[in-house]
Amino acid sequence: MRKILQDNGISVIEIIDEPWLEDVRIRGRLRLVDSVLQNEGIGSSSSIDLSTDVGKMTEVLSFLHAMLVVCASFDERLMTRWVEGEASRADVLLGMDDGNFPLISASYLSGIRVEENGSGQTEYWIPLPDFIELCPRISGSYWRLVNRPTKDGWVCLDAGAGETSRQRAARLIKERIRESLLRDCEVRMEKMDDEFAAKFSEPVERIMGLLSERVESEMPMTAAIRDDWPPCFESAVSELNQGINVNHVGRVFLAAFSRSIGLNREQTCSFFANAPDYDGDTTAYQVNQIFEREYTPHGCATLKTNARCPVQLGEDSLCDQEWLTHPLKYIRARQRRRYHDERESEGSPNEREVSSSANAS
Ligand code: SF4
Repeated sequence: MRKILQDNGISVIEIIDEPWLEDVRIRGRLRLVDSVLQNEGIGSSSSIDLSTDVGKMTEVLSFLHAMLVVCASFDERLMTRWVEGEASRADVLLGMDDGNFPLISASYLSGIRVEENGSGQTEYWIPLPDFIELCPRISGSYWRLVNRPTKDGWVCLDAGAGETSRQRAARLIKERIRESLLRDCEVRMEKMDDEFAAKFSEPVERIMGLLSERVESEMPMTAAIRDDWPPCFESAVSELNQGINVNHVGRVFLAAFSRSIGLNREQTCSFFANAPDYDGDTTAYQVNQIFEREYTPHGCATLKTNARCPVQLGEDSLCDQEWLTHPLKYIRARQRRRYHDERESEGSPNEREVSSSANAS
């Protein structure tokens, strides 16, 4: 990835908005969409011609773009889905890739041996410690050690369950890839500051909207999440809750913002239940319209002009930042801080690794 950036004279910041890199961003979005929609394996969006330099660059940088969007969201659900999608994709591609398989697999496992069995078929053997660590995460009797041939500390991943030996090995490697991607995301999130994350607010908002559609029931409205809300959203919710009238801009903002942060339609409708002019059917219709048309929530400038920004200069240090031009940037910044605080209280990724190996031993 670094070589491709260097060879093409591209900085990470240019991936965000350089017009000539639009294909990279489009492909990055498709990768994210495939993961969120849980399209199996390679997905329908893999039509890039990898035999060309441009194709290679687009594919590699699209991965980086997708990862940056995921990290800038500071949303663990999105991170988990994306990582799962990319790991599944790697599983399928590795299973098909005869030429690169030994090299790539050797970088994820402590070793790999290729042998020919009595029927002339290629069989992959992997070290016992790798197998023991990774197999509990995979279901199926194939993955139980008692069902695997072993020899001198090596485990044979012979063909089985309708897959070749290489595909079986790729399935195991998928577990390491998932682990490695999660760690990479954590490290990037640790390093990402508010201003840099804010540059991804548009793609983050778009993918979070899609995620909210897919996992409507998974989003609990916990106190911690409510703590992240920007004052303009918090005030719209609490004013309606107290039966205070909220103007049209405030109501549209409330519904569109709810969608963007992953709340579902029922949760959004419930915000309006105490409104002075509440009508269940009308609310459901209007909220549906906003969800279906994927309205983008208003930015700070519009909210200020329409008396929907409750904050004066000096009252909220985040709102005072020059780059804070949209309430979505506010919530991402809060999520990022919470994420860091939680990580700090748990220890850094490396510390966690050391402590989990210490626990294991
Ligand atoms: S400055 Fe922006 S984010 Fe902060 S309360 Fe006002 S509208 Fe909301």
